[in-house]
Amino acid sequence: MSPEIQNKLIGDVNAVYIPIEPDNFHNVIIALKSIKNFMGANITIPYKESIIPYLDEISDDAAFCGAVNTIYRIGIKWYGANSDIVGFSDALKYDLKFDIGGKDVVLLGAGGAARAVITAIGNDAASITIMNRSIENAKKLVELFSGKLKCKFMIKRWGEEFKTDLIVNATPIGLQGDMLPIGLKNAPLFDLVYSKIDTPIVALYKHHNKPAIDGKQMLYRQAKASFALWKGIER
Ligand code: NDP
Repeated sequence: MSPEIQNKLIGDVNAVYIPIEPDNFHNVIIALKSIKNFMGANITIPYKESIIPYLDEISDDAAFCGAVNTIYRIGIKWYGANSDIVGFSDALKYDLKFDIGGKDVVLLGAGGAARAVITAIGNDAASITIMNRSIENAKKLVELFSGKLKCKFMIKRWGEEFKTDLIVNATPIGLQGDMLPIGLKNAPLFDLVYSKIDTPIVALYKHHNKPAIDGKQMLYRQAKASFALWKGIER
């Protein structure tokens, strides 16, 4: 979906956004950086960390999160940012219309997207409970952020019952029509998964008139933030 969004944002600028699947990541990055009129790129899994050594500077929140999803050039220098962070916080605030201040959050998943979510809300939420398939990866994530943000961190086993103010799905569950193992809850749901149709959990929430969004608004907002960096527009 990103090429569709970006090529619309590009409008009449003489540019095009194309998906590249590198056979050799190092060679591709070196080649792209050597193209004079190359504006920049989004970097996706599994390269969000491995791109960092190729950059001259990265933004504070990307450094904190440990992942870069946008690279851009100013003069002869290459910079990295993470637009997933602002994409998530803006979608939470303006699309789900949820005020995170002092709230308890259950976060499903402990991968790269979970790290962006924690970076986005970790100083405003009261607590973040990580629920992940692998408890080891949940522990690693908590170790990474513990003491660096104002919120309290907790861990629950995958599928364990919980009460919370907000549920965030940062796993790919739903992409293949599979159902998150949480059932219908009173807390609003932010599902990061994006596809043309609603994921089963978002469909269930909507069927019961409960507040829920999928990842499309976040994707659009992170795309706009990346585009602004390539065009040199301040947010
Ligand atoms: P990662 O591969 O880094 O992490 C995936 C996480 O999901 C891990 O914690 C993994 O658990 C868990 N997981 C994977 N498969 C299953 C399963 N079958 N059952 C239970 N848990 C599972 O991926 P990302 O964090 O980068 O991305 C996660 C999702 O978020 C993707 O669907 C991605 O498209 C979406 N996303 C959406 C964005 C948007 O703009 N809307 C932006 C970024 C991501 P374990 O540790 O046990 O392996």
